[in-house]
Amino acid sequence: MTEHTLEVAGVAIDTRHWIGGERVASVGTFTDVSPIDGTVLGEIARGGPAEAAAAVAAAKAAFPGWAATPRAERARLLHAIADGVEKRIEELAIVETADNGALLRSHRRGVMPRVAHNFRFFADWLLKLDHEDFETRGHTNHVSWDPAGPSALITPWNAPLMLSTWKVAPALAAGNTVVLKPAEWTPLTASLLADIAAEAGLPAGVLNVVQGYGAEIGDALTSHPDVRRISFTGSVPTARRIAASAAPHLTPLSLELGGKSPLLVFADADLDLAADLAVEQYDNAGQVCLAATRVLVEGSVAEEFTRRFVDKAIRLRQGDPRDETTDIGPNIHPRQLEKIDGFVQRAFAAGARAVIGGHPKDGQYYAPTLLTDVAQDSEIVQEEVFGPVLTLQTFADEDEAVRLANGTRFGLAATVATGDPERAERVSAQLVAGTVWINCFFVRDLQAPFGGSRHSGVGREGGTWSFDFYCDLKNTVTAPKGWKDHG
Ligand code: NAD
Repeated sequence: MTEHTLEVAGVAIDTRHWIGGERVASVGTFTDVSPIDGTVLGEIARGGPAEAAAAVAAAKAAFPGWAATPRAERARLLHAIADGVEKRIEELAIVETADNGALLRSHRRGVMPRVAHNFRFFADWLLKLDHEDFETRGHTNHVSWDPAGPSALITPWNAPLMLSTWKVAPALAAGNTVVLKPAEWTPLTASLLADIAAEAGLPAGVLNVVQGYGAEIGDALTSHPDVRRISFTGSVPTARRIAASAAPHLTPLSLELGGKSPLLVFADADLDLAADLAVEQYDNAGQVCLAATRVLVEGSVAEEFTRRFVDKAIRLRQGDPRDETTDIGPNIHPRQLEKIDGFVQRAFAAGARAVIGGHPKDGQYYAPTLLTDVAQDSEIVQEEVFGPVLTLQTFADEDEAVRLANGTRFGLAATVATGDPERAERVSAQLVAGTVWINCFFVRDLQAPFGGSRHSGVGREGGTWSFDFYCDLKNTVTAPKGWKDHG
């Protein structure tokens, strides 16, 4: 242990930035607190414009070498990082849970294996990434996927390492160098990722990790002229700021933002499955961008659906996320808890009624909540709460269901519960959403395009779409031997 190390359950974590293959301290620090019980985890380097500039300079210096590294070697190094993640799954899971309060069992068994998979998937995709040459009047067109340059990757706290590596892996695979800035509420696993990448043999400067507040170091990154790609996951207000700071240099952006996704339950659905799908929306204490927080139920089955939903929801166990039997952990921060309760109290003032919940609990927990008697144009229906709060509305027919579902400024995802495949096809065709799930939720394949419509985002990542974003595509046209243009 040194003055720059903190420890979580025996795991040592360096609290400094990782720039150009070296640990770099800042004069200032910020305090990292666990949402589980308010324990201070430690002091983290608080970067600003100087650290942003140093990290971008390191990424710029490393770029030509990494971009020229053969694909097979890049892929090998990404697999070596995946090996390192797999070796440290238990440590990463424990640290992530301490830092963001999400369930240890899901970090252990779901999230951290998927972090490793992010690296393996994009390594393998890189090797088969191609575009067939084509011919124009005897000339050959060859499309190449040229690395774009240093990329700034900015991520939120609700799934820190998962969302960071979903950007880091394709960016590195594409041949870009990276500056990753994790959220200030969850800085720890990104620091461990830097260790893992270094141990895997990734050259210095190819992956840099900086810590600090968005307004201080984040803005310095996104406005930097040498940054050639910005991939951001977070809230709409921050996305607007980032888009403005990227504008002077026309830096291409990928924005994965918030949502207010619907779950449409038709009378012909398996109501037990529909109730399960609704209860699933409390995962991660409702802090999931894709969560279907607006439950829309056909009027004729609303009572029965609600009865089944309540029956399941009241069995959920809320408590310490390190306990294997816990279903819902704490919310991330006292400020987030206040924000959630503010939404709920204003909904009550506007006439909403709580079917269950509607109040905070001891510690940093919020009771799983279902609100009914809510108007379509009310704040609670229109705005993302990012907590365990669902609303219930009824509809009379398919047209009304689609109108309500599409009636917000978001368009991230939608879930449809129906027993009629033709209805599923008709309804999904009309929904404005980046992803539609029929009789399921959260089935994610990395080769699928992922992103949101309207205010839920700009662009798509996943599979080839990630390489579209992180690369500068180039078409090279070669004349046939001896060819002369005779006009
Ligand atoms: P946020 O926008 O407050 O912060 C996200 C990141 O942006 C943090 O790292 C923060 O430090 C940084 N940041 C803040 N201001 C900045 C600035 N001016 N310049 C550069 N960076 C800046 O979001 P949050 O509260 O951390 O995350 C919750 C939001 O993220 C929700 O809206 C949620 O829906 C969304 N989200 C979306 C997805 C998706 O894939 N669409 C996934 C997860 C979360």
